[in-house]
Amino acid sequence: MKKYALIIHGGCGALSQFSEKEQKAFLKSLEKVIKRGERFLQKGEKALDVVEKCVKLLEDDPIFNAGKGSVLNEEGEVEMDASIMCGKTMNTGAVAGVKSAKNPITVARRIMEKTSHVFLIGEGAEKFIRKEKIERKPASYFILPHRVAQLKKVKKEGIVLLDHDDNKKNTKLGTVGAVAYDIYGDLAAATSTGGMSNKMIGRIGDSALIGCGNFADNKSAGVSCTGRGEDFIKAALSRRIADLVELKGYKAKKASKKATQYFKERVNGYGGFIMIDRKGNIGEGLTTEGLIRAYVKQGKKPVCKLFK
Ligand code: ASP
Repeated sequence: MKKYALIIHGGCGALSQFSEKEQKAFLKSLEKVIKRGERFLQKGEKALDVVEKCVKLLEDDPIFNAGKGSVLNEEGEVEMDASIMCGKTMNTGAVAGVKSAKNPITVARRIMEKTSHVFLIGEGAEKFIRKEKIERKPASYFILPHRVAQLKKVKKEGIVLLDHDDNKKNTKLGTVGAVAYDIYGDLAAATSTGGMSNKMIGRIGDSALIGCGNFADNKSAGVSCTGRGEDFIKAALSRRIADLVELKGYKAKKASKKATQYFKERVNGYGGFIMIDRKGNIGEGLTTEGLIRAYVKQGKKPVCKLFK
């Protein structure tokens, strides 16, 4: 069997605030998705298809802050961001501020494949979703009671909250992402999010921004980030990680370590990332207490983790 690797995440933050039962639920969900993702790779599916499929599964799980279960903006609505990138071709697609697509990652992929553009937002994106007949859902599908309660609380405190910040009453978490290295030696990355609770209307985070929260290039690495989007945008972190591999010749582990240091030192970055380098080595970094992630490599058992 040829070499392959897959890593997925479901957000980062202060995870010890969650009960054992809740922590188990995150791990269980990850385990299901990593196992399915591995089977796709074993069957010879391409990295790009595998990351889209994994992110769709995570978007459909209300436990995570993406697709169903997205956090709410200041007006109590969802505005979802997502992007996908193919490491072989460097083709990419991104979408931001969408309210109706069941799977924003599929919208990003379709933008990549069906338009001459890379990025659509808001109304234009909604028009495209309708034209392409991409599955849509009413607001009631996305707006879940625990998100309404979360928004109410956050508003009272007058803060904009990461889904998984240090906040004891905060019950659900995380942006989702996947990076795959397929049996053909190609990389791909996909990231999808509801953003931050009580965010301003029109706020776009890192998840939709190529080179910030998501990036893939066969010459360097595939990366997906989660955390305070503004920090990742300032640091252009996913592109930086790839550059550390390509320009410095670092492997996944060293590139991850150096990037995490930079992220902390330069922008006081709050978040984490997952990555795979051009040789199929897995890496990760976090400045938060935890990062909900799972990974698997050919010939090895899947590993699901919450903490460092
Ligand atoms: N990075 C996302 C954003 O800022 C949030 C997250 O990772 O939970 O939109």
